Amino acid sequence: MSPITQRYDTLAAARAWSADSATGMAKDGMHITEIFGENTLTLEALRERMPKSTWESLKKTVTAGEPLSLEVADAAAVAMKDWATEKGASHFTHWFQPLTGSTAEKHDSFITPNQGGGAISEFSGKDLIQGEPDASSFPSGGLRATFEARGYTAWDPTSPVFIIENPNGSYLCIPTAFASWKGEALDHKTPVLRSMDAVNTQAVRALKLFGIETAKVTSTIGCEQEYFLIDQEFFYRRPDLMTSGRTLVGAKPPRGQELDDHYFGSIPDRVLSFMLDAERELYRLGIPVKTRHNEVAPSQYEIAPIYENCNVAADHQQLMMITLKKVAKKYGMECLLHEKPFDGLNGSGKHTNWSMATEEGMNLLEPGESPHENMQFLFFFAAVLKALHRHQDLYRAAIATAANDHRLGANEAPPAIISAYIGEQLEDVVHQLLNGGLKGSMQGGLLGLGTPVLPQLPKHAGDRNRTSPFAFTGNKFEFRAVGSSQSVSFPVVVLNTTVAEAIDELCTGLEKAMESEPLEKALAGLLRETFTEIQTIIFNGDGYSQEWQDEAAKRGLLNLKTTAEALPTISAAKNVAMFEKYKVLNEREVHSRLEILAEQYNTTLAIEVDTTEAIAKTMVYPAAVRYLGELANSVEEVKDLGLDPSGAEEMLKTVNGALNSLGAALSGLKEVQAGAPDSEDAVEHLAYTQQSVIPAMNAIRDAVDLLERNVADDLWPLPVYREMLFVK
Ligand code: ADP
Ligand code: MG
Repeated sequence: MSPITQRYDTLAAARAWSADSATGMAKDGMHITEIFGENTLTLEALRERMPKSTWESLKKTVTAGEPLSLEVADAAAVAMKDWATEKGASHFTHWFQPLTGSTAEKHDSFITPNQGGGAISEFSGKDLIQGEPDASSFPSGGLRATFEARGYTAWDPTSPVFIIENPNGSYLCIPTAFASWKGEALDHKTPVLRSMDAVNTQAVRALKLFGIETAKVTSTIGCEQEYFLIDQEFFYRRPDLMTSGRTLVGAKPPRGQELDDHYFGSIPDRVLSFMLDAERELYRLGIPVKTRHNEVAPSQYEIAPIYENCNVAADHQQLMMITLKKVAKKYGMECLLHEKPFDGLNGSGKHTNWSMATEEGMNLLEPGESPHENMQFLFFFAAVLKALHRHQDLYRAAIATAANDHRLGANEAPPAIISAYIGEQLEDVVHQLLNGGLKGSMQGGLLGLGTPVLPQLPKHAGDRNRTSPFAFTGNKFEFRAVGSSQSVSFPVVVLNTTVAEAIDELCTGLEKAMESEPLEKALAGLLRETFTEIQTIIFNGDGYSQEWQDEAAKRGLLNLKTTAEALPTISAAKNVAMFEKYKVLNEREVHSRLEILAEQYNTTLAIEVDTTEAIAKTMVYPAAVRYLGELANSVEEVKDLGLDPSGAEEMLKTVNGALNSLGAALSGLKEVQAGAPDSEDAVEHLAYTQQSVIPAMNAIRDAVDLLERNVADDLWPLPVYREMLFVK
């Protein structure tokens, strides 16, 4: 028997990399200011490349949403083509975000043959403005029958074009929206832009009531991306990681994150090399990366940029995920963006920090030193909480995916109950408001560290709370339940639209009250009324505790534990009405999203089940049977020698028992599959997937994991957690 197990590659994995093998980095370090944005063409940079008057009208399109003329598009196209060609680009693509959650591109070269048999380089305003990819293979959720293949991409001038490089050439990417022949959104970008308009309209209106004139309010996001890095050696030997992005089997290692020694620890050399390289690429694309650190689980890390307007930030977030994955390969590693790659260890999220700011840079969620006097802040603060309170279902649905279900409610990530953490200081303000009027704000004071050599630190007026799905963190809300691999667009659309609606209603209330009262009095009354209505959504305690589950139920808050329960709420009448009212999504567009998300959930699980079954049957079962044979022979041999075989017999029984469980679990899965409902309707299928398919798959995993703990290590066919997580 020649047990050539792949795990002996552990050594190869650890040794195959050295600092010298790192490629692409300048030896003299990184000069961010020199490289920042060199692969992107911003509006400002276009100014130097376009005639003054055409640039001015382009600027009006970008900043004030004025219509774009073909003449201006032509001038922009020439400038872009020249810039891209100087950078070595031979092709261009309309870059868009279909409802798959990732990005799509179809390249065309700049070259057009001419009559003389040669070729000229060409790129017109028309090429820039509109494209028509064959859309039939993108999900449309019923918005378009397959025979109506037409889909259009339309240039989004508010997000800068950029260049993607490859060692053999490069191409120009033009951010675009993607819509059907009827003009319905088939993508994630279109509703983001529409929802930003809704926030703008309502927030500008509200500010007027406070005596502030501004031309524009923009909603902003900054997303903290968590991810794992593992050696490729292991990745490609795990069919589950390859098809599903997570380990579908695998026993918990003797050492996981218990020692808490990885979090914020010193970053391993190879990982740091990767980070520097990835960050350099992101800087060159004009993405303002700011923070990096080790996360809680072994081999888990985080990267965060500085916030930008929602549209550009969502584009940049997609580019960031693409870049992390691409650059990791250069270092012999695979970047895992899945929400839960390893059972029993912390999963990954993408905390989405959100706020609104005026064109002049005033953050509408900045409380200042004394929030109790800052009526304007309290107005917008109340609006966000009101939105969250009314649309708990939508916030929950916006983060509902098969992958995120592993994370939410586990003791590491926010629970499935939507609530807001607002900190002590603001809780106190709300309390005062509800109990007879605003008098003062608790102050943070200074934090003495008990020795005169250390400086006294100003203390925040509120602590942090890691257990809340939605936390006010100083001057922004942090939607912490967003999953690491998902597009941030739908969560952003929900935030923008629900807050726009809440501001609208508060404005209407205030305008009415101001007919008979001065602003201050009218507002105090309105805020009191609002907080009375929505205070159940505020929770500053421990979101992981059982008490909170009970308390939330008493308060009547929703607790939609799984995707199967959460998704269908998307098309609830109140949600459709809101999206239609603010012209973000029409009814068909809402339904199409539900359809597509449900389909994705079912398909993800179908792939996971098939992969689990294949691993169990073709990798684990053979290994276990071989070991069983070895044990059986040993028992016989020991007996023949007249010795006591009880040790080997014990092992034999254990392995045999586990194999029988595996056999039973595999039959169980067959039954479940045979019993699947006939319905073609993805939404109707959700519950079955959740209630029957997942338990059947988990039963297989349990048997496999028991075998992993008992089968001879040299026969085990899969890299194990210990190896994947600790080889760096
Ligand atoms: P924290 O330490 O509370 O997580 P950070 O300052 O590290 O806060 O910010 C986390 C993320 O929040 C970053 O991406 C940051 O740019 C973003 N952020 C900060 N202010 C805003 C804002 N006004 N709007 C949106 N995002 C913001
Ligand atoms: Mg963080």
